[in-house]
Amino acid sequence: MNTDNKALSTSDYMERIMQIKADLGNQLVILTHHYQRKEIVDTGDHRGDSFALSQRAARDENARYIVFCGVHFMAESAAILAKKNQTVQIPDMNAGCWMSDMADVVLVERAWNDVTQIVGDKTVTPLVYMNSDAAIKAHCGRHNGAVCTSSNAPKAFEWALGRREKIFFFPDEHLGRNTAYKMGIPESDLLVWDPEKPLGGHDPAAIQKAKIFLWKGYCLVHTRFTTDQIKTMRKNFPESLIVVHPECTSDVVAQADAVGSTSFIVKFTADAPSGSTVVIGTEINLIKRLALEYPDKNILPLHDSFCPNMYKINLKNLLQCLEQIGKKNVVTIDKEIRADASVALENMLTL
Ligand code: SF4
Repeated sequence: MNTDNKALSTSDYMERIMQIKADLGNQLVILTHHYQRKEIVDTGDHRGDSFALSQRAARDENARYIVFCGVHFMAESAAILAKKNQTVQIPDMNAGCWMSDMADVVLVERAWNDVTQIVGDKTVTPLVYMNSDAAIKAHCGRHNGAVCTSSNAPKAFEWALGRREKIFFFPDEHLGRNTAYKMGIPESDLLVWDPEKPLGGHDPAAIQKAKIFLWKGYCLVHTRFTTDQIKTMRKNFPESLIVVHPECTSDVVAQADAVGSTSFIVKFTADAPSGSTVVIGTEINLIKRLALEYPDKNILPLHDSFCPNMYKINLKNLLQCLEQIGKKNVVTIDKEIRADASVALENMLTL
């Protein structure tokens, strides 16, 4: 029965989804990002951050159908890595990402041309965060760059700097800065590229001198965290451990006890001693789930910050997608973009 116009109870949705999963067996794999709400994660075969899920999508050769419960750029990456006989679907095509929208390919190519005309095209490696659309990944692939995620950004920086002296990092300024700091690269070597200004807002001498170009993009979910919130939490819970995501600003990162990707945050929480208070600066749905999973620990958000794009995936649109398996909301990628973007993604998988 098709559920296009019907609202069912949560248990009815779950029952139907589980029935379709049982019918399709290992032909179907459902991937769920850590920021999905609990009931979506409960339907999935694998959950993880975008890196773990893209590795999983690349490995799962048996699955004819991959349904990606996350945002569009993640499903695109799975589609780029998928085998010819696999289809990738996303329950809601409108589940986008603000950060990824901040790097438009026309602006990125213009910036790349501006920079390479000044420093030469053999001195810069483009690195692109997973949170970007396929056209930006393709741009990086065409220029022998790589994709990276918040799990492997330091490795990607090392890889890039081993090849060429400069990096152009898109589109998250904060992940780029936090990674550079972690590697001992000082602020004086960084240059923030504002795509709305001529030459990114700099003169040619500053561009010559810079080592890392950081695209002026950010995640609204992670830049909502502030040092004042950390101060309040430390005052209210002096023994707490505070862990934040590297898309937070560098002042927040500097005052936290630990920083890392969503997978790191999950492990950090799991490893915290029973009875401890863990304060987390990332998307609220992950924090709520961790609080349910570890009732012996006091798990608190640094601040309630929620990603409405991730939240667009729900049981209804997931079921609709499964009822039209291989047909509804299939994510397709232009052939040339796919070829170029897979160079950058394969470079990431071999890091
Ligand atoms: S949390 Fe931020 S980076 Fe992640 S999907 Fe939402 S808007 Fe994009």
